Amino acid sequence: MQLFNLKDKSQEVNFATAVTLGIGRNQGLFFVDRIIKLDNIDELLSMPLVARSQKILRHIIGDEVPELEAIVEDAFTFKAPLVKADDNIFALELFHGPTLAFKDFGARFMARVLSAIRGDKHLTILTATSGDTGAAVADAFYRQKGIDVVILYPKGKISILQEKLISTLGENINAIEVEGDFDMCQDMVKKAFDDRDFVDAVGLNSANSINVSRLFAQICYYFEAVAQLPESKRDKVVFSVPCGNFGNITAGLIARALGLKARFVIACNVNDTVPRYLKSGRWEPKPTIATLSNAMDISRPNNWPRVEALCQMQNWSLQDFDYGVLDDESTKGVMRDLYSRTSYILEPHAAIAYSVLKDALSDDETGIFLGTAHPAKFKDDVDSALGIDVPVPEILRSKMELENKSVVMKPDFELLKDYMLNTLKLDKK
Ligand SMILES: *Cc1c(COP(=O)(O)O)cnc(C)c1O
Repeated sequence: MQLFNLKDKSQEVNFATAVTLGIGRNQGLFFVDRIIKLDNIDELLSMPLVARSQKILRHIIGDEVPELEAIVEDAFTFKAPLVKADDNIFALELFHGPTLAFKDFGARFMARVLSAIRGDKHLTILTATSGDTGAAVADAFYRQKGIDVVILYPKGKISILQEKLISTLGENINAIEVEGDFDMCQDMVKKAFDDRDFVDAVGLNSANSINVSRLFAQICYYFEAVAQLPESKRDKVVFSVPCGNFGNITAGLIARALGLKARFVIACNVNDTVPRYLKSGRWEPKPTIATLSNAMDISRPNNWPRVEALCQMQNWSLQDFDYGVLDDESTKGVMRDLYSRTSYILEPHAAIAYSVLKDALSDDETGIFLGTAHPAKFKDDVDSALGIDVPVPEILRSKMELENKSVVMKPDFELLKDYMLNTLKLDKK
């Protein structure tokens, strides 16, 4: 397949290069310039998740990556069930993977793609995290041959559960507890990518959410959602997506461009740069505000240029998007209301998507909101909002017993560089 740099059309790369580079020249995102519709949607919708996803991804990616079918089978080992939450409204539960968040889909696919295309080049994934991404990346790359992972997280600033998911694996997963805040972690990562010799020496890659491989993997579960609806309800589907960096909704819009019949609703917390932009036409990011739905605390969503490129390509108007914004108090209110009426447990991200969907839905439409994280990942907030004791799945409980293997480090790039050059087994193929 061909991908282009959205900031510099002269940079044209194939899929493998886009996955390896992550980002293009001038910090431009790689994206397609056309999408060929699938011509057999009904047939695809009758297939199981893995078989259907193999067909969809092969259609998009083309002949590259001969191992693609095996990769999909190995990556998508858990279900994405559609669960009724309210009248005419369903939750697409994307949190049944190993780290209980939708990011498992993209991270697991990316890890296996990188492993297949790296040849005999050693790679090092370096990423700073304040939570979900680090956990998903650590798990996805665990024991992938020839790939080392270094994850920086701010000491005392992520939940114990998140820390356990990142720090207890060991082997090729190096967790570093930085004595500083998240911005200092990101600064160390940025310095690493600015050091060209270092990038080459360790084969640096960031595995972050702008990587096209993560995006493409996420297309598959939109089809999986519609496949679980009775045929009579497949014509008027509305997806509501809780947005942070807008990667998830970009994947949904690609699914639509491929021929999936649905419209999309943008759900945000008070970090509402996009809703304000859709209303006023002005792009005016404000300082980021901390909320209960912390994975959506982003005021400069880095996938937005892809949404605009896609709309232009498909002749969709930005004015056609429904959108909505919820603050923390309303979020808790929505969680309580739905729980008291139907016993469905929402965590804060899903609660925002559910509420915005409910407001946007007409009587003849079927609504689906994305459940992006397991309620147990936000146990304290869910417990206190609902007055319950959310059960913690075994997969998380077992982690709590394991030993933390992270290294403590001062926020200094030189220390990180020494550590990486001396500790990683760079000759390991
Ligand atoms: C990452 C994340 C989001 C936001 O997804 P984007 O693709 O960045 O828009 C929403 N909810 C949860 C739980 C997440 O971890």
